[in-house]
Amino acid sequence: MLPVIYVITPTYARLVQKAELVRLSQTLLHVKNLHWIVVEDSATKTQLVSELLAQSGLRFTHLHVETPKEHKRKESDPNWLKPRGVEQRNLALQWLRENRQLSDGGVVYFADDDNTYSLHLFDEIRSTKRVSVWPVGLVGGLRFERPLVEHGKVIGFYTAWKPNRPFPMDMAGFAVTLQLLLANREARFDLQAERGYLESSLLQSLVSIEELEPKAENCTKVMVWHTRTEKPKMKQEEQLQKQGLGSDPSIEV
Ligand code: UDP
Ligand code: MN
Repeated sequence: MLPVIYVITPTYARLVQKAELVRLSQTLLHVKNLHWIVVEDSATKTQLVSELLAQSGLRFTHLHVETPKEHKRKESDPNWLKPRGVEQRNLALQWLRENRQLSDGGVVYFADDDNTYSLHLFDEIRSTKRVSVWPVGLVGGLRFERPLVEHGKVIGFYTAWKPNRPFPMDMAGFAVTLQLLLANREARFDLQAERGYLESSLLQSLVSIEELEPKAENCTKVMVWHTRTEKPKMKQEEQLQKQGLGSDPSIEV
């Protein structure tokens, strides 16, 4: 039997949210035995996400938790100032710990709503024994970041930004078995983690570098891209709104 892949996606309301979630959901539809855990960064579940999930054709769990005010990014803040999606990913981990048992097989992957995922990535994820790793494209100011592999073992990382981090990897570059997360019930992302240390805050309590399982042909193939969607310009919309001629708000975008 194929182990279930639990894909954990934090998401928040913005103009491009539906477009991101439609694209991601339609990628995930191609993956067998997948369970999508979508966690909204909001005080309540929104109608937009609820309906999108109900119509997605995917097996899913819909959760929500609002990022505490003092940690929430303001419109004027640069996007790297505050960690994003932390409490949401932790809530998904809590849900798995409360609703799944050690005897249930599965692999957990943290998939942000705006990245680009090759279907081949999910074949790599599926065979994870404890923690697997692979390259991520378009990240860290480089064409790609990746674990360096020698004789089938991870011996270091190709990265330029804060290379001394314990696990200098992007969220999109690893997967963890459900079993390992259930056996280590305290393991979670640290909301206080310094910039760039979020991935390390979880992985440090789960594995050592020597134990990492390199995937994607010894970490030589890029199968996920840290793409980021441009914020749409709403100049005309704002002008029309001032004249009371804004677009029909009953049409969902
Ligand atoms: N996110 C969130 N709340 C926020 C900002 C981001 O839940 O206030 C989610 C977002 O939808 C995405 C993940 O957290 O799934 C990472 O955010 P983003 O893509 O903005 O981060 P970056 O690509 O800049 O690392
Ligand atoms: Mn992103």
